[in-house]
Amino acid sequence: MNFSDLILDWYDINKRDLPWRKSKDPYKIWISEIILQQTKISQGTKYYLHFLKKFPNLKSLANSSENEVLLSWQGLGYYSRARNLHKSAKKIYFELENNFPKKYESLIKLKGIGDYTASAISSICFNEKNAVLDGNVYRILARYFLIDKPINISSSKKYFRQLAQDLIPNKRCGDYNQAIMDYSSTICKPVNPKCDICIFSKSCKANLSSMTMDFPKKLSKNKNRVLYYDYVIFDQGGKNLIQKINSGLWVNMYQFPVFQSDSCISLIDLKKMIYEKFNISAYNIELVNENFIEHKLTHLQIQSRFWKISDAPKIKVGIYVDDFENFPMSRLMHKFFEKYNSKLSLISL
Ligand code: SF4
Repeated sequence: MNFSDLILDWYDINKRDLPWRKSKDPYKIWISEIILQQTKISQGTKYYLHFLKKFPNLKSLANSSENEVLLSWQGLGYYSRARNLHKSAKKIYFELENNFPKKYESLIKLKGIGDYTASAISSICFNEKNAVLDGNVYRILARYFLIDKPINISSSKKYFRQLAQDLIPNKRCGDYNQAIMDYSSTICKPVNPKCDICIFSKSCKANLSSMTMDFPKKLSKNKNRVLYYDYVIFDQGGKNLIQKINSGLWVNMYQFPVFQSDSCISLIDLKKMIYEKFNISAYNIELVNENFIEHKLTHLQIQSRFWKISDAPKIKVGIYVDDFENFPMSRLMHKFFEKYNSKLSLISL
């Protein structure tokens, strides 16, 4: 039996029972693929079910507001995924008259759909022969064929893409794509791969040369950049100022006013910055979190502090609220609320 037949046989017996596998509806497959980017299956499953309850079909998503979509996405991170989902849902529903694109070439033109998602939807829902290439596929191919090209540089992608495409069978393309990702994530794991029970143990070149942990190869990159965020909570009789974010990763979400720096600033400097921006002398400012709240993004690490100014003069830019439930906020803001809500007794989520 060849590589793809073996994987499909394994899949038929071992495939995981996941809610999106019960359907070939491109809308549901699309939602699952977008949620599962950067998110573990256990967490992603909860969000998938919650999202489909709120937006059961393309029509409901296309007719919703961006605020509603972002609220349902809270906690998942990488909010551009939610914004793009919403934009593309509108495009398919209103401009393409609710005709979901079937071909890779049409799917990839939609916002937020890249090579991986277009391959997944076209193969799973429409049996088009397009191999998916994610971290799991890179890993098993690099090990099985002992490929020493670094997987994190763009020039290697063409090579791996062609190899993946050569392996995909003519029939059951969607099943095969799901099978190879499942197999690699559960058997050919990044750490402690289960070579002793692997169906490829006698043909995998990395296993035969005892080099499984040396593959896949990666080029080491510079360390993440560190930024310092100082959030300021302006308290006005129990209500707190939040502002809508105009640009960047968290655009259209809400947060306390924030000052960003490349290094950890002193309280004196922070007071000066508050005065310059808001014309307020922050005499009664106090630090709420004794330790930095850390938040990691792909190439960025944020160290954040939250300061509170009680009975601060009113600021015109933003809104004062005592309940944050209807305002989508970043995971970083949620981390703060989860830990320090009791210190700000009037704040609730
Ligand atoms: S033998 Fe080990 S390294 Fe090779 S494919 Fe199987 S689990 Fe992966």
